[in-house]
Amino acid sequence: MVKNLRLSVTFCLTFCLLYCGALTSYGQGFPWAPVQHKGNEYVSLNNVKTFYGFQKLTTQGGGVTLENAGVKLQFKSGSYQCRMNGVLFILSYPIVPLKGKYFIARTDLVKLIEPVMRPSYINSATVFNTVVIDAGHGGNDSGAVGYLGTEKFYALKVARLVRDMLQKKGYRVVMTRNSDVFISLANRVAIANRYKNAIFISIHFNAAKSRAASGIETFTVSPVGVPHVGRGVRERDFKIVPGNIMDSASIALATAVHGRTLLYLNNPRGNNYRIIDRGIKRARFNVLTGIKVPAILFEGGFLSNRTEATKINSPVYQQTLSSAIVRAVDVYKASITRKR
Ligand SMILES: [Zn+2]
Repeated sequence: MVKNLRLSVTFCLTFCLLYCGALTSYGQGFPWAPVQHKGNEYVSLNNVKTFYGFQKLTTQGGGVTLENAGVKLQFKSGSYQCRMNGVLFILSYPIVPLKGKYFIARTDLVKLIEPVMRPSYINSATVFNTVVIDAGHGGNDSGAVGYLGTEKFYALKVARLVRDMLQKKGYRVVMTRNSDVFISLANRVAIANRYKNAIFISIHFNAAKSRAASGIETFTVSPVGVPHVGRGVRERDFKIVPGNIMDSASIALATAVHGRTLLYLNNPRGNNYRIIDRGIKRARFNVLTGIKVPAILFEGGFLSNRTEATKINSPVYQQTLSSAIVRAVDVYKASITRKR
């Protein structure tokens, strides 16, 4: 499991190009044979296998696995869940069985599989020197209130740790807040949009009615036509928002941060926090829809879960999490600048 996670990050995001040269961007010159299903375009996972040069496609009990020496993609018929080298992603549309084959929505192929598999092909992902770190909440807005502290407090603590480490590496870091003050969502968006060669990382911690809920999750903006995770589609979901310019870059950044965080927090040779992977998801949070540079919102665990709140309160957990985010920034940078 851990070995798989390691592969996911190193292979997909550092040695991202599976088959250099011969492949061009989606659809050009490749016989995709798309089919229409419930108003959406789908392509078969057999096509995906051929396009990316997977050696094996195996099916078992509705599960479909595409595999070669370094990459393993797992899907399930009727499910939104997809695992790439063990890391969980929530698809925009479920996998559908049609005429004895399994199909993935074109949106998921173009907006998820392709940028994660081949980040160096993302045209919108340009070289950056600025990292905007957004500590969630602040001031009157405490965010989640946990057993040992508030979300606004932990978010700022981690944000400062990340800032210090990034600055040591030579990045310019902009903090949307560096004290316990309230900053509106519109202001956070405005601050981020002042910088062109930048990426944006928003840091939060979770809470849920169910005290049992735990784990980390990462959000990127929903592509056009895709709702906020867990709710039905609305008319305004079809409107292009500024964040959509960076759809592909944002999912690559999310993959780097989410994958590295799992790897660092669940390191059996370190403090193995046994953090659950809740997946990389699509959302229509204001900071994701409004920001014009690659942007993610990361949730570093549940303050409403007593065990997890204790972990989050630990300086070692905070340091480990921050180191993972910093490493992910380097990994993302390497993945988009690698020569094709
Ligand atoms: Zn929050």
